[in-house]
Amino acid sequence: MLNIILFGPPGAGKGTQSERLIEKYNLYHISTGDLFRWHTKNDTELGQRVKEIINNGELVSDDITIAMLKEEVEKNPEASGFLFDGFPRTVDQAIALDNLMESLDSSIHAVIELKVTEDEVRQRIAKRKQLENRVDDASDKLDKRISEYFNKTVHVLPFYKSQDRLVTVNGIGDIENISKEIDKTVSALAV
Ligand code: AMP
Repeated sequence: MLNIILFGPPGAGKGTQSERLIEKYNLYHISTGDLFRWHTKNDTELGQRVKEIINNGELVSDDITIAMLKEEVEKNPEASGFLFDGFPRTVDQAIALDNLMESLDSSIHAVIELKVTEDEVRQRIAKRKQLENRVDDASDKLDKRISEYFNKTVHVLPFYKSQDRLVTVNGIGDIENISKEIDKTVSALAV
């Protein structure tokens, strides 16, 4: 199994880079943001519980998020690997993910951080809002989402860094070059 985490603020390019990685390395893509959006759109019980939190750009509780992630992983026992996107966002989530991978006799092989400045993120999300009209990209919620990342989510990085599992890639610039940079790490792990 090859298990990778793609890490970065909203608008860092995780979606674009994920698509490339899942195709090339045959990974099962798990985006907790996409899963939550699916639940809210389909008005499931979980969707109803998290709708307001997501629309406000706040983080869903660890309990709910970890349970949803675990279910998604366990639904795919045949996967040759996973690409986690938007998860973990807290150290408790990171620990839960390690435990989950251990229960599958596997582990997280690398955490790839797409490093992007706050200014760049704001510009990109403004563009995406015009294209996709995501409710949580609305400008009044944007500050909250970005500050959640820079105030809370970034604290996960030292956890992985101290264990030598963190690879930081400059997320600003040509998409092809960023892909190549990411690929250097992943191809070395995939051998
Ligand atoms: P994203 O598309 O990854 O930015 O996620 C959209 C929204 O879903 C976030 O603003 C949070 O409200 C929620 N969310 C996604 N992943 C997580 C997570 N790992 N922990 C807590 N909340 C999350």
